[in-house]
Amino acid sequence: MNHDLLHTPIEYLKGVGPARAELLKKELSVFTFKDLLFHFPFRYIDRTKFHTIRDINSEAFHIQLKGKITHIQTVGEGRKKRLTATLQDETGSIELVWFKGIKWVKPQLVPGKTFIVYGKPTLFNNRYNIAHPELEEWNNQPIEQHKKFQAVYHTTEKLSAKGLHSKGIAKLIGNLLPQLKYNDIPENLSSPILSQFKFPSRYETILNLHQPQCAEKLKQARMRYKFEELFFLQLQLIRQKLVVTEKMPGFVFEHVGEYFNRFYKEFLPFELTGAQKRVIKEIRHDVKSGKHMNRLIQGDVGSGKTIVALLSALLAIDNGYQVALMAPTEILATQHFEGLKQLTEGLGINIALLTGSTKTAQRKQIDEQLQSGELNLLIGTHALIEDKVKFKNLGLAIIDEQHRFGVAQRAKLWAKKSPDIKNPQQKHSPHILVMTATPIPRTLAMTVYGDLDVSVIDELPPGRKPVKTVHYFDNKRLAVFGFIEKEIAKGRQVYIVYPLIEESEKLDYKDLTDGYESITRRFPPPKYQVSIVHGKQKPEEKDFEMQRFVKGETQIMVATTVIEVGVNVPNASIMIIESAQRFGLSQLHQLRGRVGRGAEQSYCILMTDYKLTEDAKIRMETMCRTTDGFEIAEVDLKLRGPGDIQGTAQSGMLAFKIADIIKDAKILQTARSIAKSVLESDPDLLSPVNAPIRTFMQKHHQKSFWSKIS
Ligand code: ADP
Ligand code: MG
Repeated sequence: MNHDLLHTPIEYLKGVGPARAELLKKELSVFTFKDLLFHFPFRYIDRTKFHTIRDINSEAFHIQLKGKITHIQTVGEGRKKRLTATLQDETGSIELVWFKGIKWVKPQLVPGKTFIVYGKPTLFNNRYNIAHPELEEWNNQPIEQHKKFQAVYHTTEKLSAKGLHSKGIAKLIGNLLPQLKYNDIPENLSSPILSQFKFPSRYETILNLHQPQCAEKLKQARMRYKFEELFFLQLQLIRQKLVVTEKMPGFVFEHVGEYFNRFYKEFLPFELTGAQKRVIKEIRHDVKSGKHMNRLIQGDVGSGKTIVALLSALLAIDNGYQVALMAPTEILATQHFEGLKQLTEGLGINIALLTGSTKTAQRKQIDEQLQSGELNLLIGTHALIEDKVKFKNLGLAIIDEQHRFGVAQRAKLWAKKSPDIKNPQQKHSPHILVMTATPIPRTLAMTVYGDLDVSVIDELPPGRKPVKTVHYFDNKRLAVFGFIEKEIAKGRQVYIVYPLIEESEKLDYKDLTDGYESITRRFPPPKYQVSIVHGKQKPEEKDFEMQRFVKGETQIMVATTVIEVGVNVPNASIMIIESAQRFGLSQLHQLRGRVGRGAEQSYCILMTDYKLTEDAKIRMETMCRTTDGFEIAEVDLKLRGPGDIQGTAQSGMLAFKIADIIKDAKILQTARSIAKSVLESDPDLLSPVNAPIRTFMQKHHQKSFWSKIS
């Protein structure tokens, strides 16, 4: 076994040398033989078929011919110079033409020699010819040996300039593969898995990914490699869930007590939907199980997640524990605080709000009450966790609108165990309930949230009318203003939202203030009052403006996306989104979710200029067509690719070489269920049959995950 072959620095490969090595490192991060070996083709050219010259009847496709060179000629001078050669097979002849590189090609073209020629025919003067075909001398082997799939590799301009275009890379790979022994590529799947799916060995897979022997072998190799990528990710996630999370002890909330029951019977302002009841049951089941809860609630905007959070909080409080509720913005935290205070008025629980703008004296009081246990529920931004806030006995942490927290922050929360809440009484990590309004397609959820249990609120409270959505170009603005006027006359309120993108903050700010001015001109005081909220305001200012709108003192709210998340003003029935083309689908959906919360018919008006990219057109069209968050999420995923969704890119989780979680959703499901059954029967992968999996895991995946395996 040549142990070090794969770790050999790339400059030692035949055909590389120092200059190319530098470029390979810089451009493709290829440092070693191994890096090159795992630089797979991104597509293949099917060169398994041969044509005869007589059959050529279309300019549409590349074709492959085998024939003899019979006649070579150079015509013209200078820039008009060209080289032609006649290729002849049993059925006829065709002309091959070169305008460039003549001095390289000409010496190869020996009359009477047989060549394999590949290129795209063009019709010229009523005859087909092929310009700049690929040439390969026939080595007198049976034609079968020339039937192949030609790999196409990603490369860059700089590499191409040094001869490392796709073919150049293929040539390097061709220098590397013959040195590769079976043992250089240890198997990483168990034999039961290999035989169940009739997968080729890992060694054979890698050879075939670069130099496929035939269509069937290529298919098998790709299938196996995709499976492998998805399998190891799922193995990691499921192990986290099965072994780490599920075995992790948690607080037991044994009984449903006074607070929960009284609230349910006497305070609840409406009947819960079936979906809400189901999710509460799922949570209740988790928190009395003795295990640590890690649950995600997915529910479209307006599906009523807040009340589920409150009922869960009451369960914890009933059992003597404290609860933290975290929101991504101060506005939202404040709104939760006021909303929940109002809902629980008279119930006798102690709720406080802690944000960046809480005054020192107030803060001191909160700290004292937290540590004495007097305070039951603390609401705030994520400062709650990062600020070394000390609880007496934090039993449940609820994170609302999780998409603003991002995967990385969530991981941080988990890692903290008993976070910065250092307290001997804090035996376990608090139960964790994450709530998100960004629906994620099932396949993606499985991948991104594979370590969480997922509950779905898939039912809206009764009586909701779907929001009517239209897309107008800017020239309709006057008509839109007229419409606003009529709705306000009926007593409704209006949001007008402007984009805020950090790179062009100044411009956006100007758009916003210009917009505000023209709105106040069209809707002047004292008859009309307009609120304005944006990121540059002080928290008190924001809060003041927000409150005026919430109380109905202002009819119009001009804002940037700070109002995107969570804000609840049921009387608002129009959402106007300016420069809507600059918003992503999930953001548009979130914004639209701010209206349609009351009994009235609501409207969402998307305003754009005329210049729309194809992508933007699809976004507008999708918004007008559906209000189904899951459907929107699917389109979003297709437009943007999984990498951009929910900060998954940073997580590195979806960095697959071949697998594609959308297209390969079926393989993903299979991989997941196999990973599950492997871990269920052998959680630490100690059985000899799983040794290949275990060895690979230990080598390639985060140590921490497998630290329990010694
Ligand atoms: P989201 O899931 O977007 O956070 P909220 O919890 O803010 O939604 O609820 C949206 C609105 O629906 C609120 O006004 C809330 O009082 C109301 N609501 C929630 N559940 C129900 C229900 N079962 N029946 C009627 N209205 C409900
Ligand atoms: Mg909410």
